[in-house]
Amino acid sequence: MTQSTLSEFVSTLTDYDPNALPVAQAQRIVQDFVQPILGIETVAIWQALDRVLAADVISPISVPAHDNSAMDGFAFQGADLLPDAATTLAIKGTVFAGKAFDGSVGRGECVRIMTGAVMPAGCDTVVPQEFTQNASDSAVTVPQGVVRTGDNRRLMGEDLKEGRAALTQGRILRPADLGLLASLGISQVMVQRRLRVAFFSTGDELRSLGDTLDPGCIYDSNRYTLFGMLTRLGCELIDMGVVKDDPASLEAALRSACANADAIITSGGVSVGAADYTKQIMAQLGDVTFWKIGMRPGRPMAFGTITSKGKTAYLFGLPGNPVAVMVTFYFFARDALLRMMGASSAPLPLLRAASTADIRKKPGRTEYQRGILSTDAQGNPVVRITGSQGSGVLRSMSEANCMVVLRHEQGNVHAGDLVDVVVFDGLT
Ligand code: AMP
Ligand code: MG
Repeated sequence: MTQSTLSEFVSTLTDYDPNALPVAQAQRIVQDFVQPILGIETVAIWQALDRVLAADVISPISVPAHDNSAMDGFAFQGADLLPDAATTLAIKGTVFAGKAFDGSVGRGECVRIMTGAVMPAGCDTVVPQEFTQNASDSAVTVPQGVVRTGDNRRLMGEDLKEGRAALTQGRILRPADLGLLASLGISQVMVQRRLRVAFFSTGDELRSLGDTLDPGCIYDSNRYTLFGMLTRLGCELIDMGVVKDDPASLEAALRSACANADAIITSGGVSVGAADYTKQIMAQLGDVTFWKIGMRPGRPMAFGTITSKGKTAYLFGLPGNPVAVMVTFYFFARDALLRMMGASSAPLPLLRAASTADIRKKPGRTEYQRGILSTDAQGNPVVRITGSQGSGVLRSMSEANCMVVLRHEQGNVHAGDLVDVVVFDGLT
């Protein structure tokens, strides 16, 4: 990192209060502070799904490469169409997809043509087979008014023009993009290397799956949620398990994470008054700020960098509550990780939907409520808040299909009011 430290960075901001940080300001700080971690590799397009494109892909050819027919029918010159009567054309031959017609087509003539076949020289219009009348081997009639000049013809380069960027750097490759690359004859692309993310849970009360659940203990669920969210983002994962709340274990874990990863994500131990050492060790090993964000759930969060043996990694110290982990991941860590991955900005798709019920909301903090988005009898989007919104209720997160985002300034919502909704499918 060539830039200033996080402490220097935040000291330049006006209205910065780490103990009452509005969501938008925290998001901006995270987004402005993290830098792309670039490293390029070439992969076959089979391996390129969900990867970040490292360079523009310039189209080596035009697609389609020739004018061609969009229908099965007859190709002819539009100028032959009689303005106020049916037009009868003499059939000169047949052209199939993948073939070109090598004869010439003159006035009053046509060629039987199949979808995708190259338009014969001189032809600019195709009449679909089903619109024609009296077709024989030698002639066909085009009724008046069924086609106009240029109809049913796909133009060369209509999809893509040779020499133009077909896909741009920073794009996260989707299924359609793989098809597009294949249509250009491109079998491999340059992508950014995967981002390496180390993650662990902190807390003496946590037990791993397979361990006995001693009295007062709980299973570590955050690591599994994080595993899912990070996998969806396409990161390379370093699962470091559960780390005990003791200084030596935490220090060893953070140093090891730092040695192996570009980013470290922890959960737990960052709230006020927690009887743990997480904050202390994080502060000791790096340039970390501890925030109380104006949001619910997920108020406490640590953010910054950890340095060990000359190597620096970004740190997201997420709160311990299972729902708070997901909310802080989606609304702070996700965009930052994408930026580190070299992806161009991919803002979460927002929808507006009518709330089915009143929602109590205090202005002065952002609330993320778990919701179920559906459509009403008229087909309009409506959203219902799931039962309990307690920050530890993972079941409601699992039932929900979206988050309702109630902005900082917003007050109570009345049934029927439109609210912002982020659909989980868009959150991956
Ligand atoms: P903390 O932020 O460490 O004070 O944790 C807040 C709450 O979340 C406590 O009730 C913890 O038991 C719970 N918690 C912390 N880490 C996890 C985890 N990995 N899985 C499930 N619950 C957790
Ligand atoms: Mg804890």
